[in-house]
Amino acid sequence: MIEHNFKKKFGQNFLTDKNIINKIISVSNIKNNSLIIEIGPGSGSLTRELIKYGQVLAYEIDTELRKTLDNEFSNISNIEIIYDDFLNRNIKKDLEKYKYNNLYVIANLPYYITTPIIIKLIEEKINLEKMVIMVQKEVGERFSAKVGTKDYSSITIFLNYYYNIKQEFIVSKNSFIPKPKVDSVILSLTKKQEKYKVKNEEIFFKLVKDSFKYKRKTLKNNLKNYNFSKIEEVLLKNNKKTDVRAEALSIEDFIEISNNL
Ligand code: SAM
Repeated sequence: MIEHNFKKKFGQNFLTDKNIINKIISVSNIKNNSLIIEIGPGSGSLTRELIKYGQVLAYEIDTELRKTLDNEFSNISNIEIIYDDFLNRNIKKDLEKYKYNNLYVIANLPYYITTPIIIKLIEEKINLEKMVIMVQKEVGERFSAKVGTKDYSSITIFLNYYYNIKQEFIVSKNSFIPKPKVDSVILSLTKKQEKYKVKNEEIFFKLVKDSFKYKRKTLKNNLKNYNFSKIEEVLLKNNKKTDVRAEALSIEDFIEISNNL
């Protein structure tokens, strides 16, 4: 392990278990001629393996890691490391110079910005084939929650709109330096082959967000500003009670409701 002044503010928990890294690579199943984005290479433990499988574009915010990373990677042609805050980058622009067939994100994400990173990756519309990411266990449960469970929320629907999400395996907190407070999980998000038929995505995403605003309230109470009779029509047609909570509705239900507004 390198000598490094670990920074909590950057969510630095470095992976030390080689078996976990191998499992991440195996789950990723990287196809030939791929470009792999890594957010936060840290001291390079995952990066070292990724460069064996394709071109790597990595973003690291902590410039103190530059010396270590450059020592190992500056002479290697299929990796570029950008020392900057990933959230401030124009990813589309960074990708312009590369030719590739498939685009992946494979990363042990900094936990304090997991959701903003994923939202950015989706909103930049860079056509990601697959993401294999390490997140805190609770966050993983929220992202992959099933309808009707307590973890099911608007972010679940947002992510499931684009990706099939699978919890691949749990990673113990003992696999990191420094040791975090909670365990982690490896999630895979694989691009859906068929797009949902939504008339207006803006209306759909707003409806979902508004529906979950207060989780304990019924849908009707959360959607006071909507013409609820149009929503009721769909609920009744689908054998749902009109006093349901948002968590009882599937992505297909929300799509049907938004298409009927
Ligand atoms: N990949 C390494 C590993 O698995 O050992 C490190 C993972 S560590 C959980 C997260 C990494 O993300 C750290 O290296 C941290 O400095 C970096 N990081 C944090 N915020 C970032 C940001 N906004 N942009 C780019 N990198 C960031």
